[in-house]
Amino acid sequence: MSQEWNIRSRGHVCSFCEKPLVDKAPLISALKETPGGYERFDCHPECWKTAERDWKPFSQWDGVYFAPVKEEKKEALKKEDAGELLRKLMTLDDPAMKNVVYVLAVMLERSKILVERDAKELEDGTIRRVYEDRKQGDTFVILDPRLRLENLGEVQQQVVALLSGTKTLGEVAQEEEAAEPAAEAPADEEPQSEAK
Ligand SMILES: [Zn+2]
Repeated sequence: MSQEWNIRSRGHVCSFCEKPLVDKAPLISALKETPGGYERFDCHPECWKTAERDWKPFSQWDGVYFAPVKEEKKEALKKEDAGELLRKLMTLDDPAMKNVVYVLAVMLERSKILVERDAKELEDGTIRRVYEDRKQGDTFVILDPRLRLENLGEVQQQVVALLSGTKTLGEVAQEEEAAEPAAEAPADEEPQSEAK
């Protein structure tokens, strides 16, 4: 699997009929797996029902479309920074940062910025969680590294250090690489408790 995570923005027109999506109206979103990554569909529920498709969605969920809004008041500065950090990390796509990416997504979910839309176990046993930004509608497909509880605190501290600027991305990536000397083994050797 070449792409462990992906950002896909919500569309503003229906993927099938290409008419605009209506503010605050229900919509159906879906991700299709393609060799080049995930392709995202956003569409009117009727169009989803009636359109001819010869593929099965990787993930599919009901949502509500919100027309884009102008930048709001800047008071929730920390939270916006966390969202920006997540986007930056997703773009970097550095496997060493997988724990940091996941913990950051969970933190954003707890502060109601993201909502988990789906979780998929792939054939290799790994789990991908689909998070959606409640306001902006972007989708993040994130590898669940099945962190052990005893490692959770450490990763949280790294996230906090990144957000407060006391550590750089490069420093954290090095720490993460050092903490995980064994190259990613696809098979789980021990049962791992899921930290969520
Ligand atoms: Zn439509």
